[in-house]
Amino acid sequence: MKPRSEKSDISLIEKVELHQHVDGSIPLDVTWKLMKKHGLHPVKTKKEMEKHLVLQEGEEGALLKYLDKFHYPLWITQFYDNIAYAVESIVTEAYKNNVRLLELRYAPIIHTYSGLTLRQTISAVLSGINKAKNRFPMEIGLIVIAMRHQGPHIAKILARQAISEAQSLHERTGVIGFDIAGAERGNPARLFGQAYDIARTGGLYLTIHAGEDEGPQSIWEAIDVLGASRIGHGCSAIEDKALLKRLAKDKIMIECCYTSNYQTGAVKLGEPHPILKFLEYGIPVSICTDNTTVSNTSQNKENAKLLQWLTPAELSTIHKEAEAYAFIHQNGGPRSAQLVERKRASKKEGIEK
Ligand SMILES: [Zn+2]
Repeated sequence: MKPRSEKSDISLIEKVELHQHVDGSIPLDVTWKLMKKHGLHPVKTKKEMEKHLVLQEGEEGALLKYLDKFHYPLWITQFYDNIAYAVESIVTEAYKNNVRLLELRYAPIIHTYSGLTLRQTISAVLSGINKAKNRFPMEIGLIVIAMRHQGPHIAKILARQAISEAQSLHERTGVIGFDIAGAERGNPARLFGQAYDIARTGGLYLTIHAGEDEGPQSIWEAIDVLGASRIGHGCSAIEDKALLKRLAKDKIMIECCYTSNYQTGAVKLGEPHPILKFLEYGIPVSICTDNTTVSNTSQNKENAKLLQWLTPAELSTIHKEAEAYAFIHQNGGPRSAQLVERKRASKKEGIEK
């Protein structure tokens, strides 16, 4: 047990959150309140509902069990006002954890079942962010996600929709980045090249969920074929020294999600988290929650768990340095460099552009 002072030091650290999903982070109270309001509660009590929304003891280590928790929130987040309200409450929780820069991410397509258009679902999130920004002194941006299992064509459509709300085109909060998430196996990153080209040329920055459920090759494709400047999870990079060196050399950030990685089985229980190896190699890292509700976590909790290996001062430095990799802050430089790299890689290997 660590002394209390270190825990309180953690809450004082100004934090940078670069990998947090809207769907998995809606506070339990908010989901329950909206379900009750609309008569959409499948169980009688909030306590019972919690079991469906938060990963339970004994459910760790299996990605499918983890993903199952995303099912019920979708009952209520098909409606504009509900989405905006949910997002505002997520930001409120982040602010309570002293998060000062927040990049939320969101898969618009799974919010269109009641008839909202893709663009309306994006604009609902932005509306929630704007409301929160009026209340809290925070920088907040949105990353749009395409789901890998829905295939490359849907990803292209999403990239275009994301551009329509790009921050670079508007004098207000907008979309800053593009991501693919979901089942890595069987849906290789190299097939999503055109979607990433659309996003890049539309002024979006690029991250990819990779190396969570697949080996290092998935991360190589993410950086060499798609030109991602950040990697979500990236756990399997520790199996490949050349990749670790490359990530360090090109300063490609890994968005580390400690609790989530053990829960999904990306890192086996009892094994050290790869963030330590990444730091050893000089790879930029950020400390992220992934899904605060599903993982029953928060920025304060994630940082407190890392106190086993890192001091509050070291954790604070990680957050300060992560700011430089925030998509909210970047200009055009890194994108064009990545594009050149990708063209070179695809020529060499004869893979899809
Ligand atoms: Zn994620």
